Amino acid sequence: MGISHQMRTYIDRASWIRKMFEEGARLKQIHGADNVYDFSLGNPNLPPPPKVKEALLRIIRNGAASLHSYMPNAGLPQTRERLAAYLAREHGTPLRAEHVIMTCGAAGALNVILKALLDPGDEVVVPAPFFVEYGFYAENHGGSLKTVPTTADFSLDLNALDAAVGLKTKVVLINSPNNPTGQIYDANALKELGELLRRKSRTARHPIFLVSDEPYRKIVYTAEKPPSIFQYYENALIATSFSKDLSLPGERIGYIAMHPQAEDQAALQGALILANRILGFVNAPALMQWILPDLLEESVDVSLYRAKRDRLLDGLKRAGYSCFEPPGAFYLFPQSPLKDDVTFVRLLVDEKILAVPGSGFGGPGYFRLAYCVDDQTIEGALPGFARAMDKARS
Ligand code: PLP
Repeated sequence: MGISHQMRTYIDRASWIRKMFEEGARLKQIHGADNVYDFSLGNPNLPPPPKVKEALLRIIRNGAASLHSYMPNAGLPQTRERLAAYLAREHGTPLRAEHVIMTCGAAGALNVILKALLDPGDEVVVPAPFFVEYGFYAENHGGSLKTVPTTADFSLDLNALDAAVGLKTKVVLINSPNNPTGQIYDANALKELGELLRRKSRTARHPIFLVSDEPYRKIVYTAEKPPSIFQYYENALIATSFSKDLSLPGERIGYIAMHPQAEDQAALQGALILANRILGFVNAPALMQWILPDLLEESVDVSLYRAKRDRLLDGLKRAGYSCFEPPGAFYLFPQSPLKDDVTFVRLLVDEKILAVPGSGFGGPGYFRLAYCVDDQTIEGALPGFARAMDKARS
């Protein structure tokens, strides 16, 4: 095989999600798609809000000749301006267009940020459990991931962070609302984290950046919006997308927002914009950038996700599972009834239920269920979850 040794090890490392995907395809072929209960992927099942289609039709009918043209690597100026005004309100921070860079989804945003910030050997500190791609993203740019535990309810553990953030740390990467746990980090924790990072930056003699990955920001079941990191720390960057809140994951549209008081602002902007270009993204998809200004206040109907969360959580609890009630995102992260989550996920496969072992997210002893699926999948799977629990107990 001609592929690099590194990619060979990566393919092995990525194998759990891939295995579930392949297992799902195999089971669907044998039993029919309706008889397989697939909770393995965070692929939103709700359609985009109707305004997305309306805006697309409008822009195509009235669109400028430059609709499909190259543009500045940072994105369309008018889109960045409208987004900055929206973000200034949302985050209570005076962002301007130059603080916003349009990207190919949150994944693109994270890679651009890490390309701009990391030197070989730098560490990216991440609370676990975490979105599994982070390890690859850090290594894409010469860095390495260092994981820190969270508390029993998956909140930030400030003592663990204090112990983990050191001279090699360049970035602390958080994700709230979180995939896979659904937890939201509260304002007190973010305030303490900001203080910790100021102190650690002084000792390290370089700024340690706080990067907040927040594609689920609008998918919350609490009365209050998640607090903004911009309120608590200046060397802060937000990476996000419209993949989940507008159900547009295939369109690859997202952005980076940087704190207006981040150190060395001009160099940071320049580095992010150049990274967007030389990573081969060039610019975020044009058509999406044209329609976004009309969609910033929009979101899918989050009450539908809440109903799915409640139904699945209730069914699992009745079957004897123990599970944290997540205030955001569209994942449940129940405790595995067996110590070995991989073995338990195999029991679920016997019931034609596809889940991902927590080990794949740095959270052994748990498993992840993406409940952004239709209601029949949830109803159909509940007897299988009960049988798998019985088998695990016997
Ligand atoms: N970050 C987290 C926590 C995610 O769950 C995902 C996708 O599932 C991404 C980033 C990537 O999002 P996007 O599709 O916008 O690149």
